[in-house]
Amino acid sequence: MFDYLIVGAGFAGSVMAERLASQMDASVLLIDRRPHIGGNAYDFYNEAGILVHRYGPHIFHTNSKRVFDYLTRFTAWRPYEHRVQASVDGQLVPIPINLDTLNKLYGLNMTCRQVEDFLTSVAEPRSPIMTSEDVVVSRVGRELYEKFFRNYTRKQWGLDPSELDASVTLRVPVRTSRDDRYFTDQYQAMPLHGYTRMFERMLDHPNIRIMLNTEFRDVREEVSFTNVIFTGKIDEYFDYCLGKLPYRSLRFEHQTHNSKRFQPAAVVNYPNEHAYTRVTEFKYLTGQQHASTSVVFEYPCSEGDPYYPIPQPQNAELYRQYKTMAEFTPNVHFAGRLGTYKYYNMDQVVAQALKLYQTITERADHPLLLTDRAVDQEEMRDRSAA
Ligand code: FAD
Ligand code: UDP
Repeated sequence: MFDYLIVGAGFAGSVMAERLASQMDASVLLIDRRPHIGGNAYDFYNEAGILVHRYGPHIFHTNSKRVFDYLTRFTAWRPYEHRVQASVDGQLVPIPINLDTLNKLYGLNMTCRQVEDFLTSVAEPRSPIMTSEDVVVSRVGRELYEKFFRNYTRKQWGLDPSELDASVTLRVPVRTSRDDRYFTDQYQAMPLHGYTRMFERMLDHPNIRIMLNTEFRDVREEVSFTNVIFTGKIDEYFDYCLGKLPYRSLRFEHQTHNSKRFQPAAVVNYPNEHAYTRVTEFKYLTGQQHASTSVVFEYPCSEGDPYYPIPQPQNAELYRQYKTMAEFTPNVHFAGRLGTYKYYNMDQVVAQALKLYQTITERADHPLLLTDRAVDQEEMRDRSAA
């Protein structure tokens, strides 16, 4: 009999397993249908001996000291600030759009102040800002929107930016300075020995048993457990009884080249040409020295592993209905990008799991009351108290 069955060994499941085992002395069975731990953050040394991320580039960044300190228990870090170039009009320019992007693109020599004036002159203010198109057009106008955002977004999501929530393109800022970092978070670093090593250390506890290549439905009736933490798709958990939540998938094409460098930046985005959206060269991320280099091309598609919840109002509404079902399912908690249908970064998933753990411990005296409704009510109380 296990105290907890945890489905999914990504960030959400692994943080929960670590906390419950090490702090509550709970016995945990952690399962994953994949042949490895780490979820989408899984990395490994490929046949050439280069550390690569199987499911696309994962760059750690956060403003949360709590999250950073927590992960620091399981890894040392390599400071790393991420920079991306976009291929536009036959040249490579920094993205997020900044002063250098505009000067290079238009062959100008504007100052910060002049760039501010330029953007004000081309921006088309919109109110209210509802969609991803509204966000970009109101910041940089239609021409830059079309060069950098419209086609990339259509490729990535199979949808026009006008059909997607504002939150999607709000992830990418616009700057009038020369700052060309992709993120500006206070903590930006890569696990020194990789994500998988970090997960191994997190899960190295006598109370945690791990079963890989294992489906939830196959152990559900076979194993006895008191509670479930489910970090797979919430709609799958409920047998799609209200309909399917849509997810966007990717096909990853990994290549190794017999040269030290493949491209001039860690990531090159291709908004307008090619079927792929971006190419990542891993050695920039990891700092590894090697005579060869490995890269990954990302081809968006609709079928395949569910990588991205799709931020649209109708999907949020369907998720709300599943969430209501979850709230009335005792002793089962949902967490993570798929379990809560949120376009979350790694640090947000860690923060969410730490919060869920805290709520569970605070309610430990009343395990039968422990539904996600209780967790939500706690969160609402916390928010109104803050
Ligand atoms: P996952 O990592 O998806 O883990 C869920 C696990 O559950 C999976 O391993 C799955 O196999 C397993 N599972 C699901 N259902 C079942 C079942 N029924 N039975 C058994 N096992 C099951 N975030 C960043 O912060 N920075 C980045 O640079 C970044 N880049 C990204 C790039 C790409 C291409 C993608 C797709 C995501 C990126 N992310 C990034 C987001 C990051 O991957 C997620 O925030 C994080 O991995 C989510 O963790 P999770 O535990 O919620 O889910
Ligand atoms: N985006 C774009 N052009 C770019 C970079 C991003 O149109 O060059 C849009 C696109 O819709 C993308 C979203 O901004 O899906 C978020 O970008 P981010 O790099 O955060 O995506 P992720 O790393 O999560 O795939």
